[in-house]
Amino acid sequence: MNKLAQLDHAHVWHPFTQMRDWLRREPIVITSGNGAVLRDVHGKEYLDANASIWTNLHGHRHSKINAAISRQLKKISHSSALGFANEPASLLAEELVQLANKRLPAKRPAAGKLWNKFRDQAFERHKLEKVFFSDDGSTALEVALKLAYEFTRRARGTNSKPRFLSLAGAYHGDTIGAVSLGHVDLFHKAYGGMLFKTDQVMAPYCYRCPFNRAKPERADARKYRKCSWECVGLVERKFSAQKKKGNPFAAFVFEPLMQGAAGMIPQPSGWLEQTTEIARAHGALLIADEVMTGFGRTGISCRITRDTLESAVARPASAALFATGRAEVQPDFLCVAKGLTGGYLPMAATLTTQKIFDAFLGEYEEFRTFFHGHSFTGNQLGAAAALASLDILQTEKSVRQRAQLQKNLHAELQSLWFLPNVGDIRQVGLVAGVELVKDWRTREPFALCERAGIRVCEAMAKRGVLTRPVGNVIVLMPPYCTTKAQLQKIVAALAQSAAELG
Ligand SMILES: *Cc1c(COP(=O)(O)O)cnc(C)c1O
Repeated sequence: MNKLAQLDHAHVWHPFTQMRDWLRREPIVITSGNGAVLRDVHGKEYLDANASIWTNLHGHRHSKINAAISRQLKKISHSSALGFANEPASLLAEELVQLANKRLPAKRPAAGKLWNKFRDQAFERHKLEKVFFSDDGSTALEVALKLAYEFTRRARGTNSKPRFLSLAGAYHGDTIGAVSLGHVDLFHKAYGGMLFKTDQVMAPYCYRCPFNRAKPERADARKYRKCSWECVGLVERKFSAQKKKGNPFAAFVFEPLMQGAAGMIPQPSGWLEQTTEIARAHGALLIADEVMTGFGRTGISCRITRDTLESAVARPASAALFATGRAEVQPDFLCVAKGLTGGYLPMAATLTTQKIFDAFLGEYEEFRTFFHGHSFTGNQLGAAAALASLDILQTEKSVRQRAQLQKNLHAELQSLWFLPNVGDIRQVGLVAGVELVKDWRTREPFALCERAGIRVCEAMAKRGVLTRPVGNVIVLMPPYCTTKAQLQKIVAALAQSAAELG
């Protein structure tokens, strides 16, 4: 075994990994990367089909991000945000605020001025003005959680006990607050005693929805579902019931357009708009977890024709950088991490409104301060990388590249419908989940102990394509620079590997 692999086996404990399995075979030791390609210690090349666990945007070793970090290195790598401001963090905060408040052109020009005025007023009330930096997705959520909690207590009285509503199966990170917000049974079993109670409501998982009366078809379940929006009704009921208890939900926490680690569960068009409207009507704050969906991941426009491509290029590309922006939902908290630095460095941000910020203002001795922070808050290298990444995202070249990749991904995925073990293919923009089943006609799932997802990903790795499953769902989330030929190779590897399931 390679020396580095030996050292890894001797000393490194890997995240979310059964280390007994890990120690049974030689690990892939990555030594370099370029664009969508990763290279291991033996010189074997792989395509990075999940963008290094959903972080990488423009490809590895991007010249512009490399240059930005090098320039920053010559000035300073890190100074503390406790007591000092710094250059790239200030610039990045401004840039994030600008991008987070950009909207698509009015959806209903025909409805006239009044509708647009309402829309603008609503956005104005929830304009995201302030940026709190941290390190990871979990910490970005932790910040939103603590701010929403304390804001609510200050509004309702310090004896109040703010409650949070999030989606079934939700994953918001691994710190205690983030795990509490999530609803992953395994984690709640393991850490239940340390967690605080939150509430959950059905997520719109059309493929396995008990209210969907449609028989399986060879198409995305959202398209042929037969239901009466019972899932939205359940959200309404949750909010009403909690209000009756005299303690309305303080906040509604959600991943917009698609839940990632819950199993790549996309929301049917209109779900997000309806549920967030319900939450707002009940006075709840909106916490949008865009750790996975942010920075263009959810795509350019629903259906790409040449016209929409041209208009995507013509209008400010930034309008579509966040899933909430695409859905015209303005949250009170926007949490970003993974792709913030283009996938280069650990950095996260929680954006929020002036109103939340103001609730923490006071004289020193009132101790209304937000008592929270990390050693590396506002790190210069991370902020410099993020600024470069945001620049790239807003170039016409990047917009075209993303639109093309989205279109190619859609086209390539269609070949998988011929496989009997493919039950559902769920694409939102530049991310897709392929759900493996025993038989597509019955939707019968593989038992988790059959390790269907893991087996397929292992077989894909042998074919030179790296990704990780979420249970029985294979995730495809290629870097934006992935070429058509590379994408064909990724999907072919998935098809061949899934065909071996039998
Ligand atoms: C990955 C992820 C997190 C946690 O981010 P970390 O950087 O791993 O702490 C939170 N929310 C979502 C939606 C994620 O995908």
